[in-house]
Amino acid sequence: MSDRKTTTSVLENTKLLVVKIGSVLVRGKKLDEVNQEWINAFAQDVKKLMQTGIKVVVVSSGGIALGRKALGIKASTPPNDIPLAKKQAASSVGQYYVFNGYHKAFSKYGINAGQVLLTMSETENRRMNLNARDTILTLLDHGIVPVINENDTVSTEEIQFGDNDRLSVRVAQMIGADSVVLLSTTDGLYTNNPDINPQAEHVPFIEQLSDEHVKMAGEAVPGLSTGGMKSKIKAAISATKTGIHLIITDGREVNVLENLCANKTKRSSLFYAQTVDKIAARKMWIGAHMQPKGFVTIDDGALKALRNGKSLLPIGIKKVRGEFKRGDVVEILDMTGNRVGMGISAYNLYDAQLICGCNSKDIVRILGIIGSDELIHRNDMVFER
Ligand code: GLU
Repeated sequence: MSDRKTTTSVLENTKLLVVKIGSVLVRGKKLDEVNQEWINAFAQDVKKLMQTGIKVVVVSSGGIALGRKALGIKASTPPNDIPLAKKQAASSVGQYYVFNGYHKAFSKYGINAGQVLLTMSETENRRMNLNARDTILTLLDHGIVPVINENDTVSTEEIQFGDNDRLSVRVAQMIGADSVVLLSTTDGLYTNNPDINPQAEHVPFIEQLSDEHVKMAGEAVPGLSTGGMKSKIKAAISATKTGIHLIITDGREVNVLENLCANKTKRSSLFYAQTVDKIAARKMWIGAHMQPKGFVTIDDGALKALRNGKSLLPIGIKKVRGEFKRGDVVEILDMTGNRVGMGISAYNLYDAQLICGCNSKDIVRILGIIGSDELIHRNDMVFER
């Protein structure tokens, strides 16, 4: 294994990190109590990372686990036996305890935490995705740690434990993070289920995920909160395919994040990212997956700017038409009506019409909101000619 491909070196090269925390770590001894001591130590680790310039996003479970008592759900009741409405109600009680735990811990270190509740479909929907991405990035720009969970109280799908493994990767893809760390009670992938097979060997480094690794992960073990190795492997497949490293380790170790960075953690599994240009992958996705909902005609000056890799500003826009919302894909046309590219519009049709041809600094006066300077950001654009 080359030096470049260790958990420590991956973290050394990480600028934006998503850390997922399982319910078992967040919940204390009592049913409705957080493990404040653990969260405090975690916040201390995050502070250290932030001091080295790394931005950290937390995805934390625990909402349902901490709301059990209020809803009269016994500790011994397996998650799958709790009716959906009760899980949703439990999460509405427990989420307060979860966020309050992080709020308290981060305040100890002079850091603000910001609660963000997402639903999976939001991360699939372009408009929501843009909004959520902007919110998370704005929090980070202000030195605030986003603490994300799924918005279980309103989720329409059955709440699946292990969803937060998936959610944390979605968040990482949405904000362009470099790595994801999954903290739970498992220290990584084994060749077999280590609880059943004492011969099972730990796999510390996975360069290329294969069917063999998927088989090793087996079926999800129905525990208090974890989706088992299977949901983690699925998360790893999705992460590594999109150029994001994924690390699994046992979060029960005190100061686990710090230990991971200092190569002092007992065990971890690193799923190494496949080499992809993240922006190119995003552009490919735009080109392949979206039906344009509108058309934007640009002048020759804007065309030249786009050729030079710039974003599309309202000032270079001659005409907009179609039926699009913020986050929809639109086609970019030159003055002769030829398609020159595609991109995700930061404004809906109505607003785009109002700001068309205007200077970006006038957007606030025209729309009454402080929106983005560009109609289409260069990272959200596929330029063809
Ligand atoms: N969102 C769930 C909760 O806060 C947890 C889902 C998971 O553990 O993956 O309880």
